[in-house]
Parts: sequence; structure tokens; C-alpha cells
Amino acid sequence: MAEVYTGRFAPSPTGLLHPGSLVAALASWLDAQSHGGQWRVRIEDVDTPRCVPQADQAILQQLAACGLTPDGPVLWQSQRGDAYAAALQSLVNQGWAYPCGCSRKEIESAQAVARHSAAIYPGTCREGLQGKPARAWRLNVQAVQTALGLPDVTHWHDRRLGAQQQNVGQDVGDFVLRRADGLWAYQLAVVVDDAAQGVTHVVRGQDLADNTARQILLQHALGLPTLQYLHTPLVLGADGEKLSKQNGALALDLSDPFWALGQAAQVLGLPAQTSLTNFLTQAQASWTRLFISHTS
Ligand code: GLU
Repeated sequence: MAEVYTGRFAPSPTGLLHPGSLVAALASWLDAQSHGGQWRVRIEDVDTPRCVPQADQAILQQLAACGLTPDGPVLWQSQRGDAYAAALQSLVNQGWAYPCGCSRKEIESAQAVARHSAAIYPGTCREGLQGKPARAWRLNVQAVQTALGLPDVTHWHDRRLGAQQQNVGQDVGDFVLRRADGLWAYQLAVVVDDAAQGVTHVVRGQDLADNTARQILLQHALGLPTLQYLHTPLVLGADGEKLSKQNGALALDLSDPFWALGQAAQVLGLPAQTSLTNFLTQAQASWTRLFISHTS
């Protein structure tokens, strides 16, 4: 049986949607409609200290105001602890996840002598905690790759950006699955939930593209299917940086959804539409021409 296209939009309720997040919402919705598929919404509220009370409901209202209604029930990651614990346990059972006792300071000082400036975990606790108390849990990248016969470099295809690759072991290191504060890490939660929601296609902002190789590795490690990916262009602020809540991105003004959707469509390279009534139908036709006719 042919697989049923299932896409998703997975906002973190750290505030209202901003113009950048509407681009990802609109693109993932258009891709699902254009494939005659399902569009799911998942509230990524695992990082509880960063979540803003009621932001989840406000986001769902914002989506509804734009005519973007989810198929099927909305999933809240805060209710998924058991599923993440089971996934971590299965990795531990295979010998592919280990406890780490390093503090942030220790990791940073190990890096000061390393060549790379990005946060690469040097694998300090891979062979044991050496008396330190366990803080976080990490994936043993090399162990997974060796056991499953995977190459050091993970190759993947982005439907907009083309061929991509990353050597996760070298460029990221053994990444965190469960944080020192006990919260579940984004990488584990997203992979477990994409599978649980039957997601086949991920369409999200380009700022998340460099998580993809880690997520593909985790999919392999957990015996889950690898997904199709498309990363959308970012909305840049006046400073040329990605528009985000951190650099003061304003929440979307949805008193005029047509205007907000028009701005998002422009970022996606979709032609201007004449009215809200036809907006989504026309945008869908343009999306199909741009991203589906000659890609999968
Ligand atoms: N929750 C993430 C965010 O809002 C998106 C995660 C994803 O799409 O994989 O940035």
C-alpha cells in the first residue's frame, strides 16, 4: 500500500507565532494539501521553562484565523514522557546511549583546546562516568553507526536545498537525549513523535536544517522510517539575522490574516493572491508547481 502523506507543524509555545513561524506553518500545510495528505499539529512544549502559559491555545487560534486547521488531534509533547523514556531505554539496552556527568563548563573548557568553535561534545563519559554523578544522557554516535553499518557522514536530500551531508560524530559529537535538568531533548522528542504521528514529510524553517542528520541517525537507531525533508527560507530581520523572538520579532498581527499570509507566501516565492477566499487554493496551485511537479 502506498504510504499516506503526513506532514506536520510543530511550534514551541514560547510565545505567539511570528512571521517566520507562519512561513513554516503555511509551507507545511500547502505541501500536505498538494499531496492530498494529512497535516498534523504538535505543540513542542518539552522545554517547560521556555514555554509561555496559554501560548499553545493562542497559536492554535492564530492558525485557525489563517484557515490552517489540523487533521486529527493536536499532540502535546509535555504528555509524551513515557514514550520518550521507552525510546531512551531501548537505546540504553542496545548500548547506544550512556549517562554523562560533564557540566557545561567542563565541556566548554575541553572545547577550548579543540579545533572547532561550535559546541562539540568530546566524548568524555563514553567509557564511563569516572565517579561523577550522571547528569544527562547522550547517544553514542559511533556505536550506532558501527552496529548498523552506517557511514560516518550522513547524507540526505532536501527538496529545496538539494544534497546535504553532515559528519555528526565530528561536527556535533554524542548529542544529548535527556538533559541534565531532566527535560527531554528536542532531538529525541521530535523523532519519537514524528513516528508516533505517522509523519512522512517534514517541512520546517531552514534554521532547523542542521538538526536533520542527527534526527536521521536517531531514526535508524530506533528502527523508525527516514522522512523526506524540505527547509523553508527564513524571514530576516532588519539586522539580516533570522527573525526570532530573541531579536524582537513581533507576534503576527492577525487582525488581517490575508496580509500576514501574503507576507509568508512572498517569502516562499509564491505569487501574490487577490483575496483571502481564494488565497489558500491559489497558493496551493503555485506550491505544487514549485515544489512538487519535479520533486518528491
Ligand atoms: N519546535 C521547533 C520550533 O518551533 C520546530 C521543530 C521541528 O519542526 O522539527 O522551532
